[in-house]
Amino acid sequence: MKYRTLAGEKVSVLGFGCMRFPTTTQNAADIDADKAGEMLRFAAENGVNYFDTAYVYHGGESESFIGKALKDYREKINFATKCPTWQIKCEEDFERILNEQLESLQTDYIDFYLMHALDRERFNNIVKKFNLIDKLNKAKADGKIRHIGFSFHDSLDAFKEIVDANPAWEFCQIQLNYINLEYQAGIAGLEYAHKKGLDVIIMEPLLGGKLANPSEQVRKTLSDEKTPVEWAMDFLWNRKEISLLLSGMGTMEQIEANIGYADKAQVGMLTKENLDMLLHTKEIFDTMALVPCTKCAYCMPCPFGLDIPKTFEAYNATASLGMEKAKSIYSEIKTKADKCKKCKKCEKVCPQSIPISGTMTKIAEVFK
Ligand code: SF4
Ligand code: SF4
Repeated sequence: MKYRTLAGEKVSVLGFGCMRFPTTTQNAADIDADKAGEMLRFAAENGVNYFDTAYVYHGGESESFIGKALKDYREKINFATKCPTWQIKCEEDFERILNEQLESLQTDYIDFYLMHALDRERFNNIVKKFNLIDKLNKAKADGKIRHIGFSFHDSLDAFKEIVDANPAWEFCQIQLNYINLEYQAGIAGLEYAHKKGLDVIIMEPLLGGKLANPSEQVRKTLSDEKTPVEWAMDFLWNRKEISLLLSGMGTMEQIEANIGYADKAQVGMLTKENLDMLLHTKEIFDTMALVPCTKCAYCMPCPFGLDIPKTFEAYNATASLGMEKAKSIYSEIKTKADKCKKCKKCEKVCPQSIPISGTMTKIAEVFK
């Protein structure tokens, strides 16, 4: 395992995103404790020392699960978790939730605490309105959290505003991969944060898994020297501004492979030819993706039973994998796109700002 610095701490370049554990049922809250516990412990034994969870992951069960599963490793690992900003309705909510999180994680302190999924609207109407910066600073002074940061989904301008608005930020977490170079904060945001002294964590390095199993057209633009996952990760580890990548690993095979890649990670590891190749891959990819869904599942559950990420997966497959494969994915979905009632509950929380309800109408037509 290679290590870099995050807010002055030594962290593994690979962080374990704790939102895609195997489950025993379709319900995200039913984490398969045996399999997921083994995965977490294997990662900790093999040098991963950054575990990223959130109050809302796995239907609210992720924190307590990792708190229990990693109890014996607490001294040698970092816990990162997040304040569900959209659930803060008054000043008191901050501390109540933080205390609950400490209890779930079975710890006296959280190493890295993030304001979850900030955008301009949440920053102004929640963080500022409820004095959450003061609350964060107080929690840090009280020893309940060690480092303060935020995760982000909005435009580059909003990103810069949020970075500049709070001198207490020590790090931030942004979405970046070799396809989404100018999306949300993007490369420009990465460089801006670094210039302003913030360390940066990357989420969605594989674009919700899409870069792990790309279509044949995309795959053949990548050299066989490395796997598609390794190319995607190396593109990020190549940059000096990046402290670590988060990977929401859901199988032991993924963990083993990613640890192997992380072992070779170095700043400046890619050549100009490698970077030109990835740029070409991006050009091909861009012509094929229909909906930029990363399968984060923040939109779930849909009150009318739609499986939103899977429906988008099927739709995207019409372009990338062909109609036959797309139909086979769509056939596995119980509640089809035409059952969308346009309530737009999902659209309020989608970090990718996808016009979900309108797209469902289109999808229903495509698969009719
Ligand atoms: S708009 Fe459609 S997909 Fe979104 S939550 Fe409502 S019914 Fe579900
Ligand atoms: S539709 Fe949006 S919120 Fe739902 S899984 Fe996709 S990216 Fe996430």
